Amino acid sequence: MAKKGRVKIDGERCKSCYLCIRACPSGVLAAGETLNTSGSYPAVFAAGEKCVACANCYEVCPDAAITVWEVPG
Ligand code: SF4
Ligand code: SF4
Repeated sequence: MAKKGRVKIDGERCKSCYLCIRACPSGVLAAGETLNTSGSYPAVFAAGEKCVACANCYEVCPDAAITVWEVPG
């Protein structure tokens, strides 16, 4: 059975490069619509039920803004 995961994005650390969005095989990350205090729009975890806990997003993030954890399927 495929793994399931959850992702937390620290919106203040995120610099809105969106590498994580491009790296996600499940298309569950998206550009957010709320400005952070640095004046960028942090990525958000938008369709959580499709996350497969691959950690691609965690690995590509240059700002260590992403935490991934596996949840029971
Ligand atoms: S890779 Fe990191 S810094 Fe870039 S948009 Fe995603 S969370 Fe933000
Ligand atoms: S852990 Fe994988 S599937 Fe889940 S949001 Fe990150 S890149 Fe996408």
